[in-house]
Amino acid sequence: MSIRVTVWNEYRHEQTHKAVAALYPQGIHEAIAAGLRASADFNVRTATLDEPEHGLTEAVLSTTDVLIWWGHLAHHEVRDEVVDRVVQRVWQGMGLVVLHSGHFSKPFKRLMGTDCALRWREASDKERVWVVSPGHPIAQGLPDYFEIDQEEMYGEFFSVPQPDELVLISWFTGGEVFRSGCCWQRGLGKVFYFRPGHETYPTYHHPLVQRVIANAVRWAAPTVVGSFTRDVTRPSAPLEPMG
Ligand code: ZN
Repeated sequence: MSIRVTVWNEYRHEQTHKAVAALYPQGIHEAIAAGLRASADFNVRTATLDEPEHGLTEAVLSTTDVLIWWGHLAHHEVRDEVVDRVVQRVWQGMGLVVLHSGHFSKPFKRLMGTDCALRWREASDKERVWVVSPGHPIAQGLPDYFEIDQEEMYGEFFSVPQPDELVLISWFTGGEVFRSGCCWQRGLGKVFYFRPGHETYPTYHHPLVQRVIANAVRWAAPTVVGSFTRDVTRPSAPLEPMG
């Protein structure tokens, strides 16, 4: 059975910034989707902000195993009822892979419960991504480290809860470091944050970036799909005599 993946992108930079459109003529979402479509493991579709219900209808989300999220300019335009729907689905078992500036997206902030702030610099730093959990499924097939020639810098402190598992740490030319591959469990769902992917660089064409995303989708795919919210709120009868 292939994993049903929905790649969500706000899709605004590509329509307003020529340099971004040159790198991603069909949009960042299509570049990410193309990387995944190279494998028969995935059944991939895309959704964007300006579609009705941002392309994330009940029907789409209920048939999505893993949702990938890229947003930057328009986090505030994502309607709260759609955010509620995404968060509910994660609690019920859907995987969520949040990319780069998605750290400030409404679903990620809601699931983390913190402001998800960090320090940044747009100065074409080199990024060296180190694997710090080589046995983790998301690190499979990766070398000890890989480099992205030019990227925006994100630096610590990254204001998120301590990750359940830390897979990747990035170093930048300017000397900063950042926890760039972080795993959390939320309800029955798995959440992975992956740092690289500033829109003015060709990061999503990098084969090892594509590999991390594909590995993350396999890792985040639900092992259990249930009704987490309903299950934890139901009344519970005692299993032993209560005297
Ligand atoms: Zn950026």
